[in-house]
Amino acid sequence: MSKYVYSFGSGKAEGRADMKGLLGGKGANLAEMTNIGLPVPAGFTISTEVCTYYYANRRAYPRSLQREVRSALRQLEHIMQASFGDPENPLLVSVRSGARASMPGMMDTILNLGINDRVAGGLVRKTNNPRFVYDSYRRFVQMYGDVVLGLKPQHKDEIDPFEAIIEETKKREDVKNETELDVSDLQELVARFKAAIKDRTGHTFPEDPEEQLWGAIGAVFGSWSNERARAYRKLYDIPESWGTAVNVQSMVFGNMGKDSGTGVAFTRDPATGENAFYGEYLMNAQGEDVVAGIRTPLPLLNLKEENRRMYGQLDRIRKILERHYRDMMDIEFTIQEGKLYMLQCRVGKRTAFAAIRIAVEMVRERLISNKEALKRIEPDQLNQLLRPVFDQQEKGRAVSSGRLLATGLNAGPGAATGRVVFNSPDAEELSQKGESVILTRVETSPEDVKGMNASEGILTARGGMTSHAALVARQMGKVCVAGCGALDIDYVSRTIRVDGKVVREGDWISIDGSTGEVIEGKISTRPSEVVRVLIDKTLDARDAPVYQVYAKVMEWADKYRRLGVRTNADQPDQARNAIAFGAEGIGLCRTEHMFFGEEKIGPMREMILADTEETRRRALAKLLPLQRIDFEGIFEAMDGRPVTIRTIDPPLHEFLPHEERLQRQLADHMGLPYERVRQRVESLHEFNPMLGFRGCRLGIIYPEITEMQCRAIFEAAANVKARGIEVLPEIMIPLVGNVRELEHQERIVRRVAEEIMKEKGIRIRYLVGTMIEVPRGALTGDEIAKVAEFFSFGTNDLTQTTLGVSRDDAARFLVPYVEREIYKKDPFEVLDRTGVGGLMKIAVEKGTSVRPSLKVGICGEHGGDPASVEFCHEINLNYVSCSPFRVPIARLAAARAALDEDGTKQPRSPRRSRKKTKR
Ligand code: ADP
Ligand code: MG
Ligand code: MG
Repeated sequence: MSKYVYSFGSGKAEGRADMKGLLGGKGANLAEMTNIGLPVPAGFTISTEVCTYYYANRRAYPRSLQREVRSALRQLEHIMQASFGDPENPLLVSVRSGARASMPGMMDTILNLGINDRVAGGLVRKTNNPRFVYDSYRRFVQMYGDVVLGLKPQHKDEIDPFEAIIEETKKREDVKNETELDVSDLQELVARFKAAIKDRTGHTFPEDPEEQLWGAIGAVFGSWSNERARAYRKLYDIPESWGTAVNVQSMVFGNMGKDSGTGVAFTRDPATGENAFYGEYLMNAQGEDVVAGIRTPLPLLNLKEENRRMYGQLDRIRKILERHYRDMMDIEFTIQEGKLYMLQCRVGKRTAFAAIRIAVEMVRERLISNKEALKRIEPDQLNQLLRPVFDQQEKGRAVSSGRLLATGLNAGPGAATGRVVFNSPDAEELSQKGESVILTRVETSPEDVKGMNASEGILTARGGMTSHAALVARQMGKVCVAGCGALDIDYVSRTIRVDGKVVREGDWISIDGSTGEVIEGKISTRPSEVVRVLIDKTLDARDAPVYQVYAKVMEWADKYRRLGVRTNADQPDQARNAIAFGAEGIGLCRTEHMFFGEEKIGPMREMILADTEETRRRALAKLLPLQRIDFEGIFEAMDGRPVTIRTIDPPLHEFLPHEERLQRQLADHMGLPYERVRQRVESLHEFNPMLGFRGCRLGIIYPEITEMQCRAIFEAAANVKARGIEVLPEIMIPLVGNVRELEHQERIVRRVAEEIMKEKGIRIRYLVGTMIEVPRGALTGDEIAKVAEFFSFGTNDLTQTTLGVSRDDAARFLVPYVEREIYKKDPFEVLDRTGVGGLMKIAVEKGTSVRPSLKVGICGEHGGDPASVEFCHEINLNYVSCSPFRVPIARLAAARAALDEDGTKQPRSPRRSRKKTKR
């Protein structure tokens, strides 16, 4: 028979940290902390299997559950020396949800369960602290009324009905804080809460503790399928099938008076990663008070001054936890009459800055290995290090001209500028229209997650560094300023009033999540530290701590990765940037991009409009020197690294003007009659240009184009080499589906190469290969590889041609497709492993079967997507190629793919053990 309930308490627990699947994260870590001797109030965990059972059986429990819960409760009573429901000596418990993956605030917790009028009376006699008793009681009724009996706000602008009653009472008593309410006020709150519940929901508040307990357990399991929990799971890819556990735990009380309190902390700074104890607390408070933003909490440093002994206990636990878990932890604690209790710990969410810094510093502190450090950094997190910050001068001017509205807490670093919106649906709507928005709330709640995701930044008036807004923003990598108390936010008039100024919905505002500043109007942003060191060269690496951490991670990544990383670049400056980011070559140089320049588009158009070979050759002769100069620049910048150059690819009509006015201009310029130009443009029109006259088809019908391009490439290569700089061109023929196409083009390439090498008296090492971007190319990889020295997967086109989906026309159905999980991810962003990937595998296998030395890479957009990079590693590609700013991300993704495979897979094949494509 299955076991459904796991107890913890008195120094031992039935669970462990690695039982998260069964006990949820909270339950597993409560067990772990108990086992390592930390002070954890005793309790028990009802496993996630019960949740699964509950949903599989129309919300019914397994038969043995009631018996197991009862016996765990008896054991708990024994440990606590108190009885559930006994007025003379009552045991109170909390009922807490806890899923496998943490879902902060997504589900509901009920505290002080077990109170009713009789128990309250008994507790007053026992504690002699009626204020505490009725404060606990009113909190219980409030939470139970909300979570179990369903009395909550009905629409987005309504305030919580319980809060409304509290506000009324506070106003009447003329007090600011609810801690100032006296016993009779609190008793009145209990009664009014119960009446409001009865009145608005029809439910009578249950006095029987047993009934309360089962009501709460049911509500926690029920909350697994509430809308905000679902939205959260969707956002973070958490499977519906995991389910939540329920933790029932004896209460400890932070609301017993001045030497009691409650708090949350991170063992290191979650925003910057600094190794400093970081947290917030409130004295005489309970549960969520700290994060709810109702009272503004104090920083932990304050506790150090106020109560050294208490701070000492906490700091000792901080060290124990970091040693034990070897990670930055997020903890929740309560102090009851001077004694500290741990209520939760989990690996702390952090900004990308912090994640990277903590990983690097923990290696230095010998807590983890550098491999472990790499596994802890998500490749996409590097984005945040590359992200812009505000232009300091512009910001300085804004501040000195009085546009600084207020300063809040620097809860999520970075710079964001956008239009003010006041609720989540508006944020989503406006951002869908392509506007940048700043979601501005008094405080955020889990209902706001979608809107936060749609915003550039989040601004709140209440709540601390660990408030919901701050936590979620950091996890999403959003800029966030929290707890900006000076702002008077009014949802109804949709305004922010501050210091005599009014900011309205739709106005521009700028927030600096690194300093907490909130500034009126728009401020432009400037490059990050990493970019200033590497690209702009305006900052010395020694003065750039963020850069140093970045550099360390890259050094380790390069040590472990086996995939080469190249870049897609068409200009020398792009190439130089990419090298600064660590690119080892160019995987795709699109020659047609070069034709779009001012003076090049003219001869290009002449070439296209030519209707005889002779006039075409005349135009090409004008293009030749222009292309040659471009290639020289690129070869120089790449300094001997391989450069894959693709011959002309797009349909020719893309180069021609389509408006009559421009066509007339062109005709004038070329001395042709307008009609001729118009006709030629018309004749180039295609019904389906993506599958039309493009790719190698152009070079086959007009061989003189390929010839000119090769001339430009090899003359440039020879010239650069003559200056003593090594060159390594790789000529790539696009859109090949039949080996004969490639043969035709290859003959031209080799003939021209020979001619030029002879002319210039210089030998140049070069390769000829092809893009694999139509299914026939992949399926006949063995034929093609007889000619091709390399393959490069053009996965943009290969995705289009494999799925039969035109990327430019896909928006209408692809988004709904992904929503319906027909495709789990947009296949143009994340490689479709089964379909497109399947063809890639076939091409690799067939290709290498006839040419073992075949070099294989990928140059589609997917080359910079971590999941796709992982796939490329798995199928033994030699390199991935991506845009310059994604090169660091690809390097890290490649290292992680190699580390993931360590020990779990077969020894590598001989191909893979070949060196990376270094120069
Ligand atoms: P969440 O998952 O939203 O963090 P928790 O279950 O951790 O919810 O509960 C929120 C807070 O309630 C905790 O941080 C803690 O302060 C308080 N709490 C929960 N259980 C107890 C308990 N047994 N005694 C005292 N406080 C508790
Ligand atoms: Mg918690
Ligand atoms: Mg293509």
